Amino acid sequence: QSKLQLVHAHIRAFPDFPKKGILFRDICPILKDPAALKAVIDLFEEHVRKNYCHVDLIVGLDARGFLFGPLLAQRLGVGFVLVRKKGKLPGATVSVAYDLEYGKAEAEIQEDAVIPGQKVLLIDDLLATGGTLFAAYELMKKQQAEVLGSLVVVELKELNGIDKLRPLSVFSLVQY
Ligand code: IMP
Repeated sequence: QSKLQLVHAHIRAFPDFPKKGILFRDICPILKDPAALKAVIDLFEEHVRKNYCHVDLIVGLDARGFLFGPLLAQRLGVGFVLVRKKGKLPGATVSVAYDLEYGKAEAEIQEDAVIPGQKVLLIDDLLATGGTLFAAYELMKKQQAEVLGSLVVVELKELNGIDKLRPLSVFSLVQY
C-alpha cells in the first residue's frame, strides 16, 4: 500500500454534517493511526523539500491545521505559527473577516508572529471554498510575509477553492 493509499483509506465521509446537504470529510482516523499520520507528514515533507529551497515558517489554520503543521515544521526544522479564530490570541493582533462554507468568521494572528519578508507555507486539513485559506493568505500579505504556497490533506474540487486562491498554489494529498 502506498503512502497516498494509506492516507486515502483513513478519511471518512459523514453526510449532512454540520448541516443538511454537506458531506463532511473526517480526517480523525488519520490521527488515530500512526502510520497514516506519518504518511501525511512524509508526503508534505517530500513536497516541500522538492519545491522550496528555503522555508522560514509553517503557518497553521485553526483548528485542524494545528494537528499537522507543528509535525511538519519539526521535520523541516522551522517554526510554527497559529492563525486563530478571533479572540483567542493575547497581545497585539491583526485580523481579517471571511466567509466559510457554512457561516462567517474572523481569522487572527499575533502581530509579531511573522517578520516582513519571511517565507511561509500555509497548512490546513481541508480546502473547501477557499475562504479560510484566503483569509490566512490576506493576513500573511498584511504582515508582508512571502507566501510560498499552501498544503492541505484534502481538496474538495467541486467547490473551486483553487480558483479563489490564485495565484496561491495549493498542494493536496487527496482530492474529491
Ligand atoms: P473553506 O474555507 O470553505 O475552504 O473551508 C475550509 C475550512 O473549513 C477548513 O478549516 C476545514 O477544516 C473546514 N471544513 C470545511 N469542510 C470540511 C469538511 O468536509 N471536513 C473537514 N473540515 C471541513
